[in-house]
Amino acid sequence: FKVPAVDNEPMKTYAPGSPERADLQAAIAQMEQELPFEVPIIVNGEQVKTGKLAKQLIPSDHARHLCTYHEADEATVARAIDGALAAKAAWEALPWGDRAAIFLKAADLISKKYRYKLLAATILGQGKNAWQAEIDAAAELADFFRFGVKYVEELYSQQPPKNSGGAWNRVEYRPLEGFVLAVSPFNFTAIGGNLPGTPALVGNVVVWKPSPAATYSNYLVHQILTEAGVPPGVIQFVPGPPPEVVAQAIAHRDFAALHFTGSTFVFKKLWKDIAANVDKYKGYPRIVGETGGKNFHVIHKSAEIRNAVLQSVRGAFEYQGQKCSALSRLYVSASLWKGGFKDSFLEEIAKIKVGPPQDFSNFLGPVIGKPAFDKTTGYIQKAKEAGGDILIGGSADDSKGYFVQPTVILTKDPRSITMREEIFGPVVTVYVYEDEDFDKTLDLIDTTSEYALTGGIFASERQALIQATNKLRHAAGNVYYNEKCTGAAVGQQPFGGGRASGTNDKAGSIAIFYRFVSARSIKENF
Ligand code: GLU
Repeated sequence: FKVPAVDNEPMKTYAPGSPERADLQAAIAQMEQELPFEVPIIVNGEQVKTGKLAKQLIPSDHARHLCTYHEADEATVARAIDGALAAKAAWEALPWGDRAAIFLKAADLISKKYRYKLLAATILGQGKNAWQAEIDAAAELADFFRFGVKYVEELYSQQPPKNSGGAWNRVEYRPLEGFVLAVSPFNFTAIGGNLPGTPALVGNVVVWKPSPAATYSNYLVHQILTEAGVPPGVIQFVPGPPPEVVAQAIAHRDFAALHFTGSTFVFKKLWKDIAANVDKYKGYPRIVGETGGKNFHVIHKSAEIRNAVLQSVRGAFEYQGQKCSALSRLYVSASLWKGGFKDSFLEEIAKIKVGPPQDFSNFLGPVIGKPAFDKTTGYIQKAKEAGGDILIGGSADDSKGYFVQPTVILTKDPRSITMREEIFGPVVTVYVYEDEDFDKTLDLIDTTSEYALTGGIFASERQALIQATNKLRHAAGNVYYNEKCTGAAVGQQPFGGGRASGTNDKAGSIAIFYRFVSARSIKENF
């Protein structure tokens, strides 16, 4: 058999007066009535309630919380690992078509049955506006599962091209020996589903630790996977205090892989912890991680101003700049800056409405929590102290929710702190370069790219696009011509970057599936 052709989930537009907007608003209203929810740990398909409780706050209204969740203790984590290992043989033995069907069904459940509920949880709990939630918790999540099935089918079909002298050479793509640890971030519900989903698709068992700030939406994803037919034990849902749960899993003899999205700091720490435990393991664990970014747009003098402005506003401020891919340093040619870019950029930003995402007229919502709020405002302060000019924004208010105004800093120092360090908030720093220094500016971007996740190059002269692409060969894993540096689509732009941004194993492509299988070659002589 062949798996049916797949396509990206069509996105709903939630136009004013549309039935889908009414449906989504009703789902949000219902969730607001029913909250707070109680979220258990799920081990072997059963609810575990440790009574050690933590809260997922609503970032636009931090007096309320979306859910209370039970945190795993040592005994629960141990049971989750043992249970996953016990579920492994049956999951591996399940015919590939059955595994494929489960994930195709999960995508359908997301698309048809649970879309608005998932969106409501993402809007309330993670502070996304309706459109940002749609891109994530409906479209990308379904796409990861559907395209994942296609990629695995393609992977299994990769066979040696040659059989010699009566022999048949074949390759078997075994799941890893042991369990996979998935550690997912708050900023994409879709990544919550993808981090356990990708290894499970190729037959692995997974211990999944969701982000505390995305617990409820991630719990819904786990329920959907269960309803679709993922058997008990195959994906264990284990919220808990991050360092303890993760440290315990990493110290286990059967730890086989880490599938991680989160901060560079934590990823490096885990890498060192894994190294320290290496003598314990049966094999060498796979380490797959996508971490931070300090993503750029470079605007050449030949760029079309209006497009470069609008794309830069979206790249920097959609979801409050809390995408790993978000634009945070902007290099603009002096003639364009003075010739309309600056005025138009600031005008567009002045139009941005900031407020709770439940209100569809707000474009920019809250940052995820108090530490994010303090970090973002702290960077604005540091930029001011270093002589940066705040062109717009700069203020913030956390009295009800964690709101930071969209902020533009103009700097004369391309190595200033906000040109180098990741903020993960609605702040972009602009450096204006002389038109004749385009080539020098490319060198500058490259040498200051400690991270290398995404970049946008804006020019109408094709030669400038090529020049930048060549010079910035290792400064980004995803490059966009005349388009913002966020919004990679599964099945279209494999996503990931190098340097401090991660192992660049390309989510949303076939490449990542190779990391979670261990191939075996078989030569059979007749
Ligand atoms: N894939 C997302 C994008 O292209 C970003 C994912 C992330 O923030 O980790 O915008």
